[in-house]
Amino acid sequence: MIRVEALDKRFGAFHAVRTVDFTAPTGRITTLLGPSGSGKSTVLRIIAGLERPDGGRVRLGECDATELPPQKRNVGLVFQSYALFGHLSVRDNIGFGLDVRKAPRAERDARIDELLALVQLEGYADRKPTQLSGGQKQRVALARALAPRPGVLLLDEPFAALDARVRRELREFLRQLTARLGVTTLLVTHDQEEALELSDVVVVMHEGRIEQIGSPTEIYDHPSSAFVAGFVGAAAVLEGRVDGDRATMGQIDLPAQGQASGSTIQAFVRPHDVAIVGRVEEAGDGESVTSAEVVRLVWLGWTVKAYVRLDDGQEIAVQLTRQEAETLGIEAGHRVLVNVQKAQLFVMDYSI
Ligand code: ATP
Repeated sequence: MIRVEALDKRFGAFHAVRTVDFTAPTGRITTLLGPSGSGKSTVLRIIAGLERPDGGRVRLGECDATELPPQKRNVGLVFQSYALFGHLSVRDNIGFGLDVRKAPRAERDARIDELLALVQLEGYADRKPTQLSGGQKQRVALARALAPRPGVLLLDEPFAALDARVRRELREFLRQLTARLGVTTLLVTHDQEEALELSDVVVVMHEGRIEQIGSPTEIYDHPSSAFVAGFVGAAAVLEGRVDGDRATMGQIDLPAQGQASGSTIQAFVRPHDVAIVGRVEEAGDGESVTSAEVVRLVWLGWTVKAYVRLDDGQEIAVQLTRQEAETLGIEAGHRVLVNVQKAQLFVMDYSI
């Protein structure tokens, strides 16, 4: 378990981390997710002991690690830039942490073989890092971090430098690896898809603070703030007002979600929460729909994204299956009827 309590860090006048509190549960993957500059790496570096906090505590398992030097914290670290030793072979890179700890030769060699198998690089032991692909280098970096059996694994944007396909493969690889080893893992990323796919717990950060902590589904389905709703998952943002128990955003009218009558609100509409129910000329009676024009259609394999402009000028994206789009027979320029089934509403805060 990693537990940070009231962490605080300033760089000169800049307040980079503000009273950050969270727990990364044992044997699970916890992700720090946020835009560039939100303080994620600083929190990770404080946990690793590479940065001193101005306030707060770091607990690793039962131990208060706040004052411990990095080498006494029993953490494994992996960064975006592989940081492998170029003059050492894969085998010696993986063995590095064991050599520092003066592990007996036979034990060291057995552990390296075990890790080479674990990261599926058995045939690569004698290569130098320059003879490896980016994905292979990152697997060596993972093996090197895991070799001394760390209590926690800290990963800072480990896949950011890799292409999309390798990134997806390595995500799956990491998921299986950590499940098998049961190692407590903290991952820093700005990639919401990566966070949703990999994590047991997501900690969303913004401007040095925690915005929300939850499971990927909680964060996606029940964002606690407009920032989270906008940052995690795609959403069109519509503006409107609450009148009584209804929220009206231009042509769209939905039940309010507890916001006071008279509030100015933002509505976040996910593409899969909107349906195109037909072409305007085929309108049935009494459907709860509004009319719009198809601006653009994007065919993405089995899904289709339709960008539609409501008659009041607001644009939203609609996600359809390929079959739905074909059945509807829609094209750019067509007038269609759309039904917004769900939105997340937030009162606009002018004090920010
Ligand atoms: P990124 O994904 O870009 O690394 P991040 O969320 O990890 O972003 P941090 O690297 O933690 O953000 O940085 C948070 C803020 O603190 C940034 O504005 C950064 O410029 C600043 N910062 C980080 N390290 C230092 C430092 N050593 N000196 C001064 N400012 C720093």
